[in-house]
Amino acid sequence: MPWQQIAGQDRAVRLLRSALERGQPHHAYLLAGPAGVGKELLARLFAQAANCEAVSGEQPCGSCPACAAIARGNHPDVAWVLPQSEAVARGIVSRADLEGTPSREIRVDEVRALSRRLALVAARGRRKIAVLAPAEAMNERAQNTLLKTLEEPPPATTFLLVSEQPDALLATVRSRCARVQLAPLPEKVLVAELVKRGAPAEEARRRAARADGSLGRALSLDPEELERRRELLESVEAALAAPDERDALDLAEGAGERDAARGIAEAVQAWTRDLLVAQAGGEIETQELAGAAARLSQAIAAPALLGQASLCAEVIEALEQNGNGRLQLERLLLGIRELRHV
Ligand SMILES: [Zn+2]
Repeated sequence: MPWQQIAGQDRAVRLLRSALERGQPHHAYLLAGPAGVGKELLARLFAQAANCEAVSGEQPCGSCPACAAIARGNHPDVAWVLPQSEAVARGIVSRADLEGTPSREIRVDEVRALSRRLALVAARGRRKIAVLAPAEAMNERAQNTLLKTLEEPPPATTFLLVSEQPDALLATVRSRCARVQLAPLPEKVLVAELVKRGAPAEEARRRAARADGSLGRALSLDPEELERRRELLESVEAALAAPDERDALDLAEGAGERDAARGIAEAVQAWTRDLLVAQAGGEIETQELAGAAARLSQAIAAPALLGQASLCAEVIEALEQNGNGRLQLERLLLGIRELRHV
């Protein structure tokens, strides 16, 4: 059941499947959504479904010669256009074969080559598919060149523009594409996907809580990093609740280097958001601290939490503008103590 490989994107899957099943796919789709939610997987499944050779059962079957060739990336009618840097990172192209630094852009020559290739009749399959990933890697010239092809698309061809930043595309290009929006994945879906991949339940919950709805991010998060974050927030809260300011000052001094200070300020900012969400009766992101969040959000008055949120934003801004790490952290921690009347 290849379509089921995509978790939590029922609407997007339904839209593309039904277009194929009716035999009327659009000539260009913009697959938009945050990183790591399944955009390229969806593009591959669409290409497979459009060219699957299985005579019965659901398409794509995932195992016929066409499905297999598309999965390997060497079907003659399915073109993936990536920036060189991405092709090198994925091991598709060897760095030794390139002259100079691999480009991060999809350049006009590459779009022209794609158009020439698509002008040919489908060699083997039923529908030619061109995937541009990420589409915003096309520079303006490349986009304008693609636009000409989108305006007069070759027959039986579908372009799939994969993008995390659809607003970075020219409006003229966007308007030629049917938009398919992929949403951030709900935490429950992430947990289920992580458990399916062998993560213990507790770890899966912790990773999902910090992944911003991205399965890619949840998979790449380091469990030790999550543990460090939890310990950090516990020591911050202990310093905030301590009878005097010594622990807060020690913490600020221990993380005086600007990047370390910024890391702490950002963790406190995310935590403050969690507390505000808990206060409003919502479910918080940092599940491992749900107990503490529930207790603190009851104990701290709403104006104090809002003050804490603005203070976090001010301190992060000051650190971005080369503020002194130790002084800004002192300002943050002592300021929060003040707000909470410790
Ligand atoms: Zn197949």
